[in-house]
Parts: sequence; C-alpha cells; structure tokens
Amino acid sequence: MKKATVIILVSVLIVFAFWGLKNYFGAPLDLAAPDVETKEEEQEYLPPERNIYDIKAIFDGQNKFQVEMNFTYVNNTLDTQQELYFHLYPNMFSSSKRIPFFKADFYRAFPQGFSLGGLAIKEVKQDGKDVAWSMTQEDQILHVPLGNPVNSKEISNIYMQFELIVPKARFRFGYQTFGDDKMTMSLGNWYPILAVYKDGKWSLDNHQAVGDCTYSDIADYTVSFTVPSDDFTVAASGVLKESYLSSEGYVYVYSIDKIRDFAAAISNNYETASEVIDGIKITSYFHPEDKRGGFMALNVAKYALGIFNEAFGKYPYPELKIAEANYYPGGMEFPTFIMMDSAKYKEDNLSNTSLERSAAHEVAHQWWYNLVGNDQINEPWLDEGITEFSTAYYFEKRYGEPGRESYFSRQVDTTVNFIKNNPRHMLDPLHLFKSHSEYFAEVYVSGVLFYEDMRSRIGEENLLDFFRSYLETFMYKNVSLEEFKKFLKDKNYEALDESFYNKWFNP
Ligand SMILES: [Zn+2]
Repeated sequence: MKKATVIILVSVLIVFAFWGLKNYFGAPLDLAAPDVETKEEEQEYLPPERNIYDIKAIFDGQNKFQVEMNFTYVNNTLDTQQELYFHLYPNMFSSSKRIPFFKADFYRAFPQGFSLGGLAIKEVKQDGKDVAWSMTQEDQILHVPLGNPVNSKEISNIYMQFELIVPKARFRFGYQTFGDDKMTMSLGNWYPILAVYKDGKWSLDNHQAVGDCTYSDIADYTVSFTVPSDDFTVAASGVLKESYLSSEGYVYVYSIDKIRDFAAAISNNYETASEVIDGIKITSYFHPEDKRGGFMALNVAKYALGIFNEAFGKYPYPELKIAEANYYPGGMEFPTFIMMDSAKYKEDNLSNTSLERSAAHEVAHQWWYNLVGNDQINEPWLDEGITEFSTAYYFEKRYGEPGRESYFSRQVDTTVNFIKNNPRHMLDPLHLFKSHSEYFAEVYVSGVLFYEDMRSRIGEENLLDFFRSYLETFMYKNVSLEEFKKFLKDKNYEALDESFYNKWFNP
C-alpha cells in the first residue's frame, strides 16, 4: 500500500473509533465521553455495567412489609426494549388455586394452617413518570411498558412501591411462629425481579411443584431492612454495610455486587457463630435450642467452601451465610446466602446425614447456579447435576473412601435401578416431574453418574480443569444446555467418543 493510503485508512479508523466510543458512552444519562487521561476519571464517568436493585423494606414485626425499589435497568441486550417483565413470585400465594405444590405437600408447607400472601404493586414509574403497568399470568408477572424505550447500552430508572404479605408457610417465602412469641421468616424470591431476556425473548415461567423455579441475571444490590425492635436479627445476602436507629425502627443495610438474587431471613430467635476460611467469613444463624445443628452447618459450610475453592476456583465474595429457617423441601441456595430447614437441625445424628449433605450441596450451588447461571425451570440438570456431583466430591475429599462409600450407598446405589426404569430423562424440564423422588433421582443422581463417567474416562485432573475453565468461561453469565454441550465437545477429549454423548444426551 502507498503511504498516503495508509495515513487515510488510519485516520478513518481513529474517527470511527471515537464516534463509536461517543455513541457508547454518550447516550445514557447524558454522560460525557470519558477522557483517556487518567484511570480514575474514566471510572467516574462510566455508566453501570449491569442492573442495580436498591430496595428499602419496612417490616411491621408481624407479616407485612412496605417496600420501595429503585431499579436501574441497564440494557445489555442487543435490542431496544419497549417493555420490561418482572417476576412477582410472592403472588403464587395470592390465591389457593395458584399454589403449585403437590397435594401431598400441602400439610408440609402449611403445618400451622393454610395461609395466603402476595405482593401488591402500588405504583410504578419510569424516570419519574407514571407507567401503565399491568399484571399477567395470574398476577405472577408484572408488565411494565416503557414510555421511553431503552436502546441497547442505555439505562433507565424504574421505581416501584409495593406491599408484601408473607404467608404462614414453611417455604422460601413464608414464616412460622413458635414458643411464646418467636418467629422465623424466610424472604426468598420476595421482590419484583427482572425476567431474563435471551435470544430475543423473555423467560416468564411460573413456579412448579418441584425444583427451584427462578432464572435471573447478575446484578448489584443494596437492600435495607427496617425492623420494629432490636429483638429481630436480619440475616441476608451480601455484607452488612451499616446499621442505625431511625424514626421508623432499626435499620440494617446490606450490599453486594454481582449476584443473581437477594434473600434474607428474619428472626427474633437467632444466635450466630462465625468462622473464616481462605479469607471468607462464614456466619451460621440458628435458634439457640438448635445450637448443635447451627455449629454443624457452620462446620460443613467451612469445609465445603475450602474444598470447592481449591477444586473449582475461589469464591469471589467476602461472606457466606447459612440460616436456619422453615423450608419444607430442605435446603435452598441463594447467592452468598443459604436457607436450611429447621427440622434438619434437630436430627439425632447430624454428621453424614441430611444436614451435612444439604449444606455441602447448597455451598456448591454458590458456583453452579450463582456464578454460572442457567434456566433452572427448563434445564435444571445444568446446575443440579454438577452441584450434586460436587456434593459427592465433598464427602470423598473430606472423609476419603469411607465418605465416598457412605454417600454412594445412601444417595446413588438405592436410585440406579429407579433411574433405569423411569420414563423421565435427566434433561427434562421441571413440569414433567411428578414427585420429589423422581426429580431427585433423574436430575441430581444422574448428574453424579454423568460426571463420574467423565472422570473415569478423562481422569480427575482433566475433570477439575474442565470445571475451572467452565467457570471462567461462563462466570456471571447464563449458560444453556446447547452451550454446555458445545463447550464440552470443543475440549476434544479423546476418551469422550460419540457413545458417551449418545449415552447421556440422547434419551
Ligand atoms: Zn440443588
């Protein structure tokens, strides 16, 4: 090329690069294009990279919350959005017809009598202007048409005000009373959470009778809880940033970046104990009468976190909490926060039984569900399979061969024949499963068998390498089954031939 042509080409490129940057940074919030002078200046002017939930919840001390939510929407999709959709999971409790539990589970879910709850929207605004919102799918989806459509890479503020009524249920959203005046409340899936928009469409699935029915994107959170008396302890996702006394009550402000959901438990009967491993603080919240279980949960969480840090890559948050709550299916993972059913804390033999299995399982979900997310309603095997294999791996690493044997004899050996004779497949969506045991066998235990098969073919070193690179590639994203299969095939492990893929992925 001639020198003059090169100079013209380079100039055109520079102009295009500046034009691109200006468009990228100039549009949202009228922010100036960042100067390239200093790093600090650049950071000051950068718009948020992901959605932000800023929530203020005032608790009446019984079962109601008045809540304000400022949601900063960052359009990280390639499309202009004319509307947004939020899941209103609490509204599965707003009518007896909507509660999806199996009939046999009703008594387990409502041992203190049937009870309704829900989330009532009072007001929605976009950038200060009223929005003509509506509810669909039996009030379980909030539709927010946007007066100002939001282009790709632009941001917009959505303000909501709502009242929350918590049902007296043993569920991840619910509470139970006990003793003279004691109560413990689970606040999981309790606020309007933006649906996932992928491949040009919104995922709007409702709750099912089995499994974890949520699917969401990574976001930043600041959540304040105001409680009427200092008898209440608030255990929550993230890190306690400040606490103070206001005219409305005792205020606890929790905050954390880059998590997929935010949960809490509130009780006037909590004691706590903490440990630190690899610089991460773990806190166990438990009822004083269940101190033995509280310390067991803490101990398991500590060992599991250490084992998984080494096997998969380090947990990137400063804290993890595990709280005794009332949740009839057992344990429930939330980002940086685990809810564990109170019944597990009261078992005679706490070691190597359901409390230990559940606690290790929910710790593994911090990697497989929170860091690497997926559609848990339609492709639950993606996170449950690898998480249950991680659980088996915990028993093996912590206790050696006896740990592995005892895990397999309790969870796997009893289930293998059931899987062979069952019509369901590990890759089925939640709505096809007709019982918890069928779901556990197919989706969890098949995961153990799948990764065991992989380990026996490619070796443990390669399997751990696979986990680490899977984490690195999909960290803070949502992975689909197709992406998972492609990622695995692209590794070109010689020992994984067509028969391996046919055996596991073609029912
Ligand atoms: Zn799980």
